[in-house]
Amino acid sequence: MKNKEISAKKYVSQKVYIVNSILILCHIVFSCIFSYFNIDILFYVNLVNISLCLLAFICLKQHKIKQYALIAFIELYIFMLASLFFLGWEMGFQYYCISFIVTIFFCDFYLNKMERVSKNSIAMGIFNMMLYVGFRLWTYHHAPIYVIENTVIVRGIFLINTILTFFFVSLYMVIYTTTVCKLEKELRYVAENDSLTGLFNRRKMMEILEEIINSENNKNLVVAMIDIDYFKKVNDSYGHDAGDKVLIKIAEVLKNHNFENSKVSVCRWGGEEFLILNEYDCSKDDIIQVFENLRKTVENCNIEYDNKKIKITITAGISFYQKETSLNLILKKADLLLYKGKELGRNQVIYEKSDLDSCSK
Ligand code: GH3
Ligand code: MG
Ligand code: MG
Repeated sequence: MKNKEISAKKYVSQKVYIVNSILILCHIVFSCIFSYFNIDILFYVNLVNISLCLLAFICLKQHKIKQYALIAFIELYIFMLASLFFLGWEMGFQYYCISFIVTIFFCDFYLNKMERVSKNSIAMGIFNMMLYVGFRLWTYHHAPIYVIENTVIVRGIFLINTILTFFFVSLYMVIYTTTVCKLEKELRYVAENDSLTGLFNRRKMMEILEEIINSENNKNLVVAMIDIDYFKKVNDSYGHDAGDKVLIKIAEVLKNHNFENSKVSVCRWGGEEFLILNEYDCSKDDIIQVFENLRKTVENCNIEYDNKKIKITITAGISFYQKETSLNLILKKADLLLYKGKELGRNQVIYEKSDLDSCSK
């Protein structure tokens, strides 16, 4: 997820390819029908439409979205206006006006102007409505230039146009909803996770901690504040990139550690500090052992950078939740214990002996 652009475009473009392909297919069907009924002018119009659709494909491939939208609109307008002009109202070509209105608003979304509907879109929407009414009046007073006698074909064309219109409208709705859902998911990920390690960030962790403390069921909660020892030296000796790699690796170790089936949340608290919340279901001694194992795993972990082995150790301050303890107090206690561990020489797990004595579980 790191460094990825959060944009509707990447989700939508694939689906727009499908829309364009369906349009080409429809124009091929229409050109066959018009050729069969010797309506040459509409046959040629559909050939022009097919060429424009192919051009639209090239624009899509080159990510020229605005040009694509322009070509798509021109091609559909040519098709709709010519068909209405020569064949009249009977066959439902006017319904494309409805697809246009939806497409215009969809394009606003697609081109990342999601926060509001642009004036251009409103103007285009009104223009299409006027076009619809205008053509209704015009066809009311003018007979179509070409008449297809075969009622099955007329009804068939009407059906194709109706289905296509509703297909496009529904497709845009589906694309819109799925894209919004995916974007929302990405935004939530960015808001809750650290971009380097993928672990929860501090904000999310505070939310989880608050939730646990305020929950009804009384909990066996332990909070571990973990800090990498002499991490500055890693940066100074191997470079910042090596430091980043170490952070990613340690995050992985913390996330994959065996916490004996207890509920665990791991976060990057900041810099080279991590926080673990563990709702345990065993004795306090066992939990201390779990963190002791974690410390050993990190100590024995092989981190290679530029063919050099980097040795890493961590110090952890373990604070057990006690009734009525405030959120800040439990964090402060873990921090103080971590600080004590640093003073005592690092690479150790520090907890208060009285915590273990007070209760066996
Ligand atoms: P101690 O054992 O007392 O914890 O010593 P330390 O060197 O680990 O602690 P100190 O606070 O002196 O240094 C922490 C360093 O972590 C300084 C900072 O440049 C580095 N650091 C913080 N965030 C990042 C990061 O995202 N990437 C890298 N590469 N380094 C970071
Ligand atoms: Mg440190
Ligand atoms: Mg630190």
